[in-house]
Amino acid sequence: MAKVYNFSAGPAVLPHEVLAQAQSEMLDWHGSGMSVMEMSHRGKEFMEIIHDAEHDLRELLQVPAGYKVLFLQGGASMQFSMVPLNLLGDKQSVDIVNTGHWSKLAVKEARRYCNVNVVASSEDRNFAYVPAEETWQRDPNAAYLHYTSNETIGGLQFPFVPTEQGVPLVCDMSSDFLSREVDVGKFGLIYAGAQKNIGPSGLVVLLVREALLGRARADLPTMLNYQVHADADSMYNTPATYPIYIAGLVFKWLKQQGGVKGMASRNAEKAGLLYHTIQASEGFYSSHIDEPFRSRMNVVFRLRDESLEESFLLEARKNGLIQLKGHRVVGGMRASIYNAMPIEGVKVLASFMQDFARQHG
Ligand SMILES: *Cc1c(COP(=O)(O)O)cnc(C)c1O
Repeated sequence: MAKVYNFSAGPAVLPHEVLAQAQSEMLDWHGSGMSVMEMSHRGKEFMEIIHDAEHDLRELLQVPAGYKVLFLQGGASMQFSMVPLNLLGDKQSVDIVNTGHWSKLAVKEARRYCNVNVVASSEDRNFAYVPAEETWQRDPNAAYLHYTSNETIGGLQFPFVPTEQGVPLVCDMSSDFLSREVDVGKFGLIYAGAQKNIGPSGLVVLLVREALLGRARADLPTMLNYQVHADADSMYNTPATYPIYIAGLVFKWLKQQGGVKGMASRNAEKAGLLYHTIQASEGFYSSHIDEPFRSRMNVVFRLRDESLEESFLLEARKNGLIQLKGHRVVGGMRASIYNAMPIEGVKVLASFMQDFARQHG
């Protein structure tokens, strides 16, 4: 088998141990004689799988009482519509912080249903920073305040959690979910598409404060209604059974790795190694993000000489380092180093970057 380190932004690398376990259980899950893909979602086997996944997730994040865990479909993008459609209630507007590509899409979609007050934006400096919370122009009557804790494409991460101030906090945590400790009690709703830090695509995980349920518009399609899914424990219709199974294995793996706390310290070490390499290259590589806001999940960087990009990617591939090309809207390089990326992979990348700079600098 080819040994590669996969720095894809998503769908992204999964823990090797998880894939190996899924492989060993592929044809026969725990003596059931069935693959997880072939099971009834209402059978006792799958009920055990989804129950364990929820239990482990609650434990990992110490989810307080009064929160529902939902396993839905439609990706994180579906939440750009579902959040306003479910949480607006009789309010007229929502607050959104604009820190990049994904925030912008949240704004665009919410505008279809209500007024959107962009409380702060860092577009003036190409999303290189998170505007200081004191400067936000918040509306005390907003239905909620939405922000993106990690901008996967730009490589920008919030180093703080905004305060609720009586307006429920909603967070798109797709690309840094379970990568660091969070106090779930501070949030009205957290959502995360699975294919970054949880498991295969086709699944989105939500933690929602029960008090926020029941505000959906009456004409809302049933499948878009949080209350429907909450009442049915994510079993109103057939959920994404296989992605939920893999997510459950990832949650168990996380527990073995010291939980979210253990992950957070490893993620800090991994990101530190890459940003240090960039810093030490004396301008050969650069990060356009202000230091306090550099993402620990998606390390975005440029080469001083853009004409070297192609050979950087080619040489990297020869060294088993793949999917390092940046997103087309920002260009340059992007190393996504989610939970499942081992420190060894980051070390190999850092030393490759040093060698490449020495040869071409
Ligand atoms: C990937 C991503 C999305 C979109 O996820 P889909 O599952 O493709 O809809 C939204 N927000 C963030 C922060 C992301 O990283």
